[in-house]
Amino acid sequence: MTIPTPLQDMLAREKRARLRAERLYEQVQRELRAANERLMQHAYALSDQVIAQREALMRARDRAESLEGANSRYSQDLSLANERLREAVETLEDGFAVFDKDQVLILANQAYLSVFRDFPEVQPGIRYRRIAEICAFEGVVLLQDIAPEDWVAMMMARWNSPTIAPVQLDFSTGLSVRLVERRAGNGDLVSLSNNITETLRYQSELIAAQQKAEAAAETKSAFLANMSHEIRTPMNGVIGMAELLAETDLDDEQRSYTETITSSGQALVTIINDILDYSKMDAGKMELHPEIFDLEKMIHDVLSLLTPRAREKSIELIVDYDMFLPARLIADPGRMRQILTNLVGNAVKFTESGYVLVRALGMGSSAHGQMVTLTVEDTGIGISREHQDRIFTEFSQVEESASRRFEGTGLGLAITRQIVSAMGGNIWVESDPGIGSCFGISLELPLSPDPGPLGPEPLPNTIRTVLLISDHLISREIIARRLQAAGAKILTATQSGVALRNIINARPDLALIDQDLGTEPVDTVLAELRAHRDALPVMLMSSDMSQARDLLARGDVRAVLPKPLLWRDLLAALGTPAPAPEDHDQPPVLPEPTGRADITFRVLYAEDNKTNQLVFSKMLKGLPLDLHMADNGRQAVADFGALHPDIVFMDVSMPEMDGREATRLIRATEAGRDVPIIALTAHAMQEEIDRIMGAGMNAMLTKPLKKSELLSALRDHAPPGLFPQAD
Ligand code: ADP
Repeated sequence: MTIPTPLQDMLAREKRARLRAERLYEQVQRELRAANERLMQHAYALSDQVIAQREALMRARDRAESLEGANSRYSQDLSLANERLREAVETLEDGFAVFDKDQVLILANQAYLSVFRDFPEVQPGIRYRRIAEICAFEGVVLLQDIAPEDWVAMMMARWNSPTIAPVQLDFSTGLSVRLVERRAGNGDLVSLSNNITETLRYQSELIAAQQKAEAAAETKSAFLANMSHEIRTPMNGVIGMAELLAETDLDDEQRSYTETITSSGQALVTIINDILDYSKMDAGKMELHPEIFDLEKMIHDVLSLLTPRAREKSIELIVDYDMFLPARLIADPGRMRQILTNLVGNAVKFTESGYVLVRALGMGSSAHGQMVTLTVEDTGIGISREHQDRIFTEFSQVEESASRRFEGTGLGLAITRQIVSAMGGNIWVESDPGIGSCFGISLELPLSPDPGPLGPEPLPNTIRTVLLISDHLISREIIARRLQAAGAKILTATQSGVALRNIINARPDLALIDQDLGTEPVDTVLAELRAHRDALPVMLMSSDMSQARDLLARGDVRAVLPKPLLWRDLLAALGTPAPAPEDHDQPPVLPEPTGRADITFRVLYAEDNKTNQLVFSKMLKGLPLDLHMADNGRQAVADFGALHPDIVFMDVSMPEMDGREATRLIRATEAGRDVPIIALTAHAMQEEIDRIMGAGMNAMLTKPLKKSELLSALRDHAPPGLFPQAD
């Protein structure tokens, strides 16, 4: 065993101390390293942060630099735009100014300021009211009759009003502006004064030119109206006398001369009417006077007037009126008749043989009335494509050479087109040269409150089978269709042979015969029918009443129905046992004096023209009346008081006192209040006619006077039966 010595102890303590120191050292070393590590981490984080911040800074600087560039570009653009705006505002010929909400002028262009050249205070900074005061009190603006203070008040009222109406200002310099002012969203007032000096000058020139043109058109119309009057007055003598002459005993040659005088006279009147009409339309003076009229009857009337011309050329006139189209419609009847007369007249004029067919079709109804299509179809010379577009313009005719075959003014279709378009309708044509033409119009016409019967009207139930003898295919088909729709069985024949077989086999209740049979004379057919069945009622459809009347008188036929057949004529004839041809298209034949000597019907006729007096008295010759003539209005009034006539015929234009004045004076008397007064006039202008009717006349007859119209006027006002209808 070793015994510790102090040295050993000391060495041991030293060793322990050294060991402790070494452990401490190691621990410090470790802590130092850890601290170092943390420091490093912190340093790294800091440096990352610094780098990031630097990058952000760089980006911010870049952005700032680019913003700075944009900013300077924008401000350049802005000043450029400002400059442009300023130039634009300055370039304006119209005055432009802006006031702020406190009524202070902010900016104004030279055009605005130039009217205030003598007032230097008018510049930005001046107030709206002051400018108004300068305008009013310094004579800058012409105020007409307004007091300056009122004018300023008016301008200030404009400032305060929510919507500012434009106003015209006339400056003493001769300048006129239209001041348009608008309030901006921020309360500013933008003021624009349009220079309208030139426009006003142009406008007044236009008005002057228009007035001149209107005056010229008035003069032209007045001239035409006067000419028309002057021509119609002697034409009254020519046509009236020719008509009377035709009623005397004439040989064939004399009759043909007389007829030529009448037809030439009527052609002349038609031309005058056309020219007068055209001049009225040209001056925009066409007026429509819609009233209830009977379209079906009108078509027949128009055709019957053209029957003589159609007969000369053996042209068949046919009507196909839709059973479901009401007859009574509303339109201007005079104008409707004119349309039909022009279209049908042309069709007859330009057709040498064949037929003219007028169709009236109902195309359904609308809120405004009935859609109607009228077509006029012919088998005439036709119109080439290139001419079809032109014929509706004035003075346009297909044949324009000096060697024209057809008469006419070339105004008919132009007038027709104008009337149709004034009625809100359309007109068209389809045509093939050498084959024929079809003119059509479509109109929308209001219905009459009482439109007349619709659909097939039945025949009396005694008529179950009808024998229809006609060799015209289309008209036969149309009549047969209508008869069938009315419940009859139809047998058709074109000549007596077939007709007889039908009579024997089927025993018809009625025979309807077309007088114009091409195959054999109607007399022969009638004789054959009578021989086989004497009791068979026969009705003749005729386009020549003079011949038909003989057959009627001989009792060969039970009734004569004018062609084209009007359904109601047939029904009326079936309803009346006695022979009763309708008078709708025939000139009434003067009856012999009736022998009613108990009645003296007194007629007073006021007329200054001796020829017209003669025509009038001859037209009434043989009638049971007492006729007195007065040479002027004054005498007419005196004669009226002395004679107390039952009817007065009053010429309108007379010396000393005209017909209107005389009528007024007669109407003012006790006896004259209700007496029928019929005006006679050669005036054809609507305004003149209105004036005449306004004077208290009951009706009006136009010259040249027609005997049939005169008699019908007389009949309208005479006691019933005194002037019976023609036979
Ligand atoms: P007008 O008959 O007085 O000459 P319109 O204006 O009525 O004048 O007609 C113009 C032209 O149109 C006629 O000249 C004719 O050439 C042509 N025309 C009109 N209707 C017919 C028709 N139905 N057939 C052939 N040509 C026609």
